[in-house]
Amino acid sequence: MAGPVPCYRHPRRKTRVSCATCGRPICTECMVQTDVGIKCPDDARLPRGARAGAMKTGQVIRSLLAGVAVAVVGTAVVYAIFQVGFLTLILSAVAGYGAGTFIHRAGGRNGGPLAMSVSGVAVAIAFAPFLALQVLAGGEVPIFRVLTALVAVGFAIYNSR
Ligand SMILES: [Zn+2]
Ligand SMILES: [Zn+2]
Repeated sequence: MAGPVPCYRHPRRKTRVSCATCGRPICTECMVQTDVGIKCPDDARLPRGARAGAMKTGQVIRSLLAGVAVAVVGTAVVYAIFQVGFLTLILSAVAGYGAGTFIHRAGGRNGGPLAMSVSGVAVAIAFAPFLALQVLAGGEVPIFRVLTALVAVGFAIYNSR
């Protein structure tokens, strides 16, 4: 059992309780009882599901614009990744991670299904020309490139949830 740690909102108060959602330590004044355990005020006020539903029109539009930007800029990034020829999977994971973070922030850090779909689709679009070109040129499905695309899409979706 860990010893008492300072409340993340009140550094001078020690506590043994932590938020069920984010794990940050919370003192007795900060803890909020919810149906799913004790939470910090931030998470008690904004459960993940509610946050996703609470995306405002402006945030939706910014998410979509960020998605378009990722699709456009991503095409150049994907081209560069395939030029490097090694560490491809790691680079595409990093690129997907960055794309997901970017779209998540553009949507006001709300995350949720919309941000996740925008991320997934945008990154998939960035990869699409390279997969399609290879299929058109050689007629074979480029397994490694598909795998690379899936890694990037996965990281993008994961990071914008
Ligand atoms: Zn929390
Ligand atoms: Zn506190």
